[in-house]
Amino acid sequence: MSALPLPWQEAAWAALNTSIDGGRLPHAVLISGDEGIGKSRLARALAQRLICSAEMVKYACGACKTCNLLSAGSHPDVSYLEPEEKGKAIKIDQVRKLCESLGKTAQQGGWKVAIISPAEAMNISAANALLKNLEEPQGKTLLILVSNRPSRLSATIRSRCQKLNMPTPEADVALQWLADVTSDRSAAERVLPLAGGRPLLALEYLQSDNLDQRQQFEALVAEVGSGAVSPLTAAQQCQKLDGELSIDWFSRYIHRLATTELADKPNRALFSFSDKLLLARNWILSGNNPNPQMLWEELFMDWAMVFKVRR
Ligand SMILES: [Zn+2]
Repeated sequence: MSALPLPWQEAAWAALNTSIDGGRLPHAVLISGDEGIGKSRLARALAQRLICSAEMVKYACGACKTCNLLSAGSHPDVSYLEPEEKGKAIKIDQVRKLCESLGKTAQQGGWKVAIISPAEAMNISAANALLKNLEEPQGKTLLILVSNRPSRLSATIRSRCQKLNMPTPEADVALQWLADVTSDRSAAERVLPLAGGRPLLALEYLQSDNLDQRQQFEALVAEVGSGAVSPLTAAQQCQKLDGELSIDWFSRYIHRLATTELADKPNRALFSFSDKLLLARNWILSGNNPNPQMLWEELFMDWAMVFKVRR
């Protein structure tokens, strides 16, 4: 199967192709932009375009031996570097291992590609280890850094990469793509706004089976924010929810607020509340078995305060 760029990535894709054809592809590319707009897809499409052994003009063929190996996730010359656990850091050992493998000659005789995602998950020592590799690039190697928050990367790393800042697609382009992929235009229309206009995030929502529950949860969160429902009542309604999952929903809801409605009004209270959510999440994950009523009451009381300060 061929990983193709998404419709709204055509301009970036054309620029990458021009670099490849002109032999001017840099050793490191930083693809940045909001979560859920298909940055990883672009990274994979680029890796496959470089690795593909067919004589293709613009895209990987999707059918040759190397393309098949890549689709199966077992191509020896393409590495993926991610946190070992979701939400955790990428550690120095992982980067060292990666650099070691990048230092070896490509087994298939062509490019060696590494995709690091999310790049901002590298802790300081991991980032420093990577930096060494960026300073002494080997022949045909390409590092693709994928980042939702490039400002969290060190300035030195950023300066060593060619930057590809991906915008969130226009609403009609995103909707058309989502409707095509799901063959369900009305569902696409319903979910795309919920995902803040981010088509791949919307697709993820549609493919998960708890969309209704999630919508109810978000409605409840909004009602606590507006003062229509008390934190106590809201907490009672959340007792039976999966704690980790619903805190993730909450975080994404806040992220959406912060990048849409409240984008022009920096709100410190909102950010410190996000930190509280992280703490609550860690608490749940630590197996401490917090009392759900108390946990939600506390969270919703703090949440209501965020808006009391604003009003
Ligand atoms: Zn191919």
